[in-house]
Amino acid sequence: MRTSFRLAAAAAAAALLTAPTARAQAPSAAATGIKYMRDSEEYASLSRQMYRLAADSVARRAQTAASGSWAVVLDIDETALDNSTYQLDRAAYGLAFENTSWNAWVLRREAGAVPGAADFVAAVRRLGGRIAWISNRDAVVGDATRANLRSVGLLADADRVCLQEPQRTKAVRRAELVSGSGTCAWSGTPVKVLAFIGDQMGDFPAADEHIADTGSDDAFGRTCFLLPNSMYGEWTARVTRRR
Ligand SMILES: [Mg+2]
Repeated sequence: MRTSFRLAAAAAAAALLTAPTARAQAPSAAATGIKYMRDSEEYASLSRQMYRLAADSVARRAQTAASGSWAVVLDIDETALDNSTYQLDRAAYGLAFENTSWNAWVLRREAGAVPGAADFVAAVRRLGGRIAWISNRDAVVGDATRANLRSVGLLADADRVCLQEPQRTKAVRRAELVSGSGTCAWSGTPVKVLAFIGDQMGDFPAADEHIADTGSDDAFGRTCFLLPNSMYGEWTARVTRRR
């Protein structure tokens, strides 16, 4: 099943990115964005570079923090797990993202790891840090999400996996983690978050969340580490750049 799906995805990629007739056709912008993340060495190097810089920063800041008192927070999709096969499949048929097909993809548990993620997570564990996964995946696909993270070497039993539920924005879940109370927290254990890792601006604390050393552009490269995502995001629908 997996092999046939991969073959179908490869065929879809070929259909998208090569001219089906003698008349050359430029690939669509969507196909180019997907190809960048699936096939380019630039994307893979950029991702490993970001994770290496994040690990260096965490190692420095962990020197003055007691083991178990600090954590890092990672988003899941296009931060830790690579869902480009889903994006490719949708693009091949000219279909937009929608939740039913997305959850069907998640249930396959076939996403690979984003380059550099596994090394980063291993480094954090060696340093004595905790790991929390805060994702807008639906809580109903929690088991598949945990299984997929585990299958690519990213999840440990002590991690927190905080998925989307009504009225529980990422900001709410971040606040729970930091305070040590609420379903997202390590119960009774407030933590200092040394790094947030994500591919969308919503993965990072806003200024009004009042989480130390975050909430401004200066935080990027210090406590906040951003991966590129050329496949999807709010930027595809509106101008999100502020300066
Ligand atoms: Mg993401």
